[in-house]
Amino acid sequence: MKNALRFTEQIVAAYTYTVAEQSLVDALHNSTLGHDEMWSGSIATIPHKRKDRDTLKTNIKKFLELAQDGYCYYCGFSFVSRNGERGYKGIQRDHIAPKSLYKQFTFQSRNLILACSKCNSSDYKGDTETVEKASAEYDKCDFNIIHPYLDKFSRHLQLQDDGLLKLVRKSRKGKATKKMFGLDETFEVTLRSVCLQFDKYQVNTLEELLLARISKVNISVHK
Ligand SMILES: [Zn+2]
Repeated sequence: MKNALRFTEQIVAAYTYTVAEQSLVDALHNSTLGHDEMWSGSIATIPHKRKDRDTLKTNIKKFLELAQDGYCYYCGFSFVSRNGERGYKGIQRDHIAPKSLYKQFTFQSRNLILACSKCNSSDYKGDTETVEKASAEYDKCDFNIIHPYLDKFSRHLQLQDDGLLKLVRKSRKGKATKKMFGLDETFEVTLRSVCLQFDKYQVNTLEELLLARISKVNISVHK
């Protein structure tokens, strides 16, 4: 059974473009298209390249599904535990630095991850600014949240047994990440502590958890 909760320490490899994909990306970036047209434009805006662009986006998604192993990097929940039976249908490709603010990073590999529908919603991350100090070179930008590729999660936040996330050395990025994704909300903390129990007893539902705990109590009584 896959754990319901796991915080990915750091995504080590980003998607690598093939030569053909890179030339498509260059052509899109050199065009006059806006960020939304480049990323999700219809056949009217990019007539000959739309199919290739869509294939590229699918390839990126498949790559990230493996790289993230089924977990939302931001909230730590597995996509299945967050999005229910639909699982992967609810996940979204997220631009870490919003493409509305940083069009030049629309297809930058290290700017792309998969997020659950809650974390990527406009109530949470949405198009919120994540760059503290911009640079022409992506890796030289300073980010104000824990960056999936450039930072190590445990240097900023540590998961405790009670479901709370502890700030490491008063990390500013840890604090901002908690705020942006609502990680301190009562519902989130409760869900994390329940998921930790699921993982501890290797069960998938509350009913199974109850049964597992009862049988454990009975075993210890009969010892
Ligand atoms: Zn999430």
